[in-house]
Amino acid sequence: MTAREHDLNEIREAVAKLCATFPMEYWRETDRERRYPAEFVRALTQAGWLSCLIPEQYGGAGLGISAACAVLEEIQKSGANGAACHAQMYTMGTVLRHCNDAQKAKYLPKIAAGELRLQAFGITEPTAGTDTSSIRTTAVKKGDRYVVNGQKVWTSRAEHSDLMLLLARTTPREQAQKKTDGMSVFIVDMKAALGRGLTIRPIRTMINHATTEVFFDNLEVPSENLVGEEGKGFRYILDGMNAERILIGAECVGDARWFIAKASAYARERKVFGRPIGQNQGVQFPIARAYMAAESAALMVERAAKLYEAGRPCGPESNMAKQLAAEASWQAGDMCLQTHGGFGFAEEYDVERKLRETRLYQVAPISTNLVLCYLAEHVLDLPRSY
Ligand SMILES: Cc1cc2nc3c(=O)[nH]c(=O)nc-3n(C[C@H](O)[C@H](O)[C@H](O)COP(=O)(O)OP(=O)(O)OC[C@H]3O[C@@H](n4cnc5c(N)ncnc54)[C@H](O)[C@@H]3O)c2cc1C
Repeated sequence: MTAREHDLNEIREAVAKLCATFPMEYWRETDRERRYPAEFVRALTQAGWLSCLIPEQYGGAGLGISAACAVLEEIQKSGANGAACHAQMYTMGTVLRHCNDAQKAKYLPKIAAGELRLQAFGITEPTAGTDTSSIRTTAVKKGDRYVVNGQKVWTSRAEHSDLMLLLARTTPREQAQKKTDGMSVFIVDMKAALGRGLTIRPIRTMINHATTEVFFDNLEVPSENLVGEEGKGFRYILDGMNAERILIGAECVGDARWFIAKASAYARERKVFGRPIGQNQGVQFPIARAYMAAESAALMVERAAKLYEAGRPCGPESNMAKQLAAEASWQAGDMCLQTHGGFGFAEEYDVERKLRETRLYQVAPISTNLVLCYLAEHVLDLPRSY
């Protein structure tokens, strides 16, 4: 075992221990009530896991994205739902690379100490959908502030976050040289903004994801909260998006491993026709197939994470990691449900909950078709289809 693998294993063990203090009934109850798992997020924060990417000089652990992947994978592998907090890790992709020293000094120590939460990433809009360059939320400079107007949708955890990374248009699309130019990223202090131009409305969904619609009505954001240069926000967000895809890939690998372990255990124990159901090839082969898919996806997540850590281009690998892992977790979930027969549908087995939760990752943060479009155009040099 290399030193790196040893360190990652230590992280996995520690996170698994913490997760074990939150029994499955906790996740069933929060899911049933669509309640934010605040206690779990607090425990992870206090143990320092949610700030593992923040450099040591700002109070974090200064680890790379592979460590963050190990944390999130382990959370999912324990049967928990890390969606409540994963954004605090992937927003770092933009913050660490593009915020200035003053912004880092102002926010990072408080995020590392658990005094501030940066859990909201406001990109998607109802009319733009996947076509991010069509966003209509505008930020217009007036003196030392920007005035923001517009709407975001699917802004997850907005009610449970102090800060949001927001993408808005600072130059109209038709006046920008390229359609991806003219967008800017801001750090929005949401607690200060609530009732002063910011309104949050929760959306109830098939999973417990604390997702919302967010409305901006002449919200004033100080100019010092602009990240990097005005108009270059799309590029900054891409760094966050690659990090997000890698981290969500790791979460899906964790989900797949949970489903595979759960199905294998059940197939060994459940006896029908006088023998364990797992003795039938019709039951064991789908488990073995799901295992192969999960392990292959894990390799792609690892490769993407290594490239990201080395500061090298990793768009194709990040996208492939996310998609392969999301497909592997869905395959494993479907197999796990089938292995459990009727009991797979019962809440107390957690299979139906995990299956609902892992389904999201074929749609968000980017849907499967768009990953294929990206690979076709940028890797395979095929004509752009959209
Ligand atoms: C629970 C949840 C949480 C989310 N959290 C966040 C968040 O925190 N922050 C945030 O900014 N966003 C968030 N999202 C938004 C998510 O990233 C988007 O839903 C996703 O990117 C897809 O966009 P859309 O829903 O507008 O689908 P659309 O863009 O409307 O696409 C609809 C369908 O058409 C397909 N499609 C569209 N164009 C093409 C094409 N050219 N070729 C082939 N197929 C195409 C897509 O693949 C998709 O299947 C979240 C979404 C959900 C459901």
